[in-house]
Amino acid sequence: MIQRIGVIGAGQMGGGIAHVCALKGFQVKLIDVDASHIEKGIQTIAGNMDRQIGRGMIKPEDKDAALRRIETGVEYDIFGDCDLVIEAAVENEQVKREIFKKLCPVLQPTALIATNTSSISVTRLASVTDRPGRFMGMHFMNPVPLMQLVELIRGIATEEETFRTIRDLTIKLGKVPANAEDFPAFIVNRILLPMINEAVYALYEGVGNVESIDTAMRLGANHPMGPLQLADFIGLDTCLSVMQVLYEGLADSKYRPCPLLVKYVEAGWIGRKAGRGFYDYSGERPMPTR
Ligand code: NAD
Repeated sequence: MIQRIGVIGAGQMGGGIAHVCALKGFQVKLIDVDASHIEKGIQTIAGNMDRQIGRGMIKPEDKDAALRRIETGVEYDIFGDCDLVIEAAVENEQVKREIFKKLCPVLQPTALIATNTSSISVTRLASVTDRPGRFMGMHFMNPVPLMQLVELIRGIATEEETFRTIRDLTIKLGKVPANAEDFPAFIVNRILLPMINEAVYALYEGVGNVESIDTAMRLGANHPMGPLQLADFIGLDTCLSVMQVLYEGLADSKYRPCPLLVKYVEAGWIGRKAGRGFYDYSGERPMPTR
């Protein structure tokens, strides 16, 4: 049974995962390479819980209890008594491989490992651990406290018991699981990211500007958010990584990342988390940059 959950990476996703797990009564251990990200992560969690209080979704005492259940640190030893550790660091295979190498020696032999990767092969990530049978993909959606779906991805070696435990946990967290096979980018991003990439091509080729592309898709396709607004929300670095994984993993030129997306990432204009992407977030209202 899962009681203590470790989370690696205190960014948008790791923070959201810690938020949801702590509110549901699990003990959470949260680490990041960058101590300032942990501090910022906890502030974001507290702010998001305040919003939930404002909407009557939780009570102030739920927030206080949940925050008390989150322990933070920068060392892996903290995970020694965890039943499950969820990796939610940057979408970079080399970084994730290094993390698993450091993580495995401190874990109990029975502990499970999940990765929140958006696109990297779960089978390949599992192979660097000492427990491929106890490893699987648990792909939360952003923002974690609001989005219902968790994609569950079994690697080739994932044991049935691991799958069942993670599926039960997903349901306990109030989420709805959808099973995906371990192919590049799974289901949601296999379909969503090529659409976002196409929107960046439309911008690059001058078919429309940021505002017209987003307005067209919001009002013309009834999407709650325009694709460029969504890209900023996801993070353009993450979007680019997913496109690279699709391009390389499926060896099909239809997945080539748009050069304009590459340029924005090279500039550090990676979306909301950087204050600038296809929109500039420094003022009161996001302003289109093109
Ligand atoms: P983010 O940039 O907000 O956060 C990543 C965090 O990982 C940062 O705080 C960074 O300091 C930390 N980190 C980097 N290297 C580390 C290391 N070696 N050890 C510990 N921490 C480290 O990114 P994010 O949006 O939270 O994405 C995290 C993961 O979740 C990625 O794999 C991404 O593909 C996946 N994901 C993202 C979304 C999304 O919409 N953003 C949705 C689903 C899944």
